[in-house]
Amino acid sequence: MICPCQDKSATNARLYEDCCESKHKGLTKAQSAEELMRSRYSAFFLGLGKYIFDTHHADFRNGTVEDYTASAQSTNWCRLEVLESEQLESNDKVNFKAYFFEKDKLHCMHEISNFVLEANQWFYTDGEYQPKTVEKIARNDQCPCQSGLKAKKCHLLI
Ligand SMILES: [Zn+2]
Ligand SMILES: [Zn+2]
Repeated sequence: MICPCQDKSATNARLYEDCCESKHKGLTKAQSAEELMRSRYSAFFLGLGKYIFDTHHADFRNGTVEDYTASAQSTNWCRLEVLESEQLESNDKVNFKAYFFEKDKLHCMHEISNFVLEANQWFYTDGEYQPKTVEKIARNDQCPCQSGLKAKKCHLLI
């Protein structure tokens, strides 16, 4: 499958096994804040609470691995759009939009996330939330995840 963090309509979209999987399995580490952000989104998409927990800086966590897993698994994530990442020395920001469905409504969560590099490992710390938007998606519309399928055959399974 195309990695959940990738733009599905792009011709150079990478497969999960060539993108976030090795990070989720602990075989490689994210090389940048944006890579970590993408792998965290993919972990949310796949319900991998432990990865989300482990990559959230210990000083900023709110909940247990079980809480993170429950939150990830109960959300119908749809698409990630990275708007820009700003590289500072050891403290980067990534500006992104993450989309998820609740029934037939597409929610857009817009966040500017902060990341910190510690002992050669990137961690998410916290984020500044931008105003959320909600859009109703009709069953016959193209699915916003860019799969090319109608929403009713894809993320809008209600
Ligand atoms: Zn990925
Ligand atoms: Zn979809």
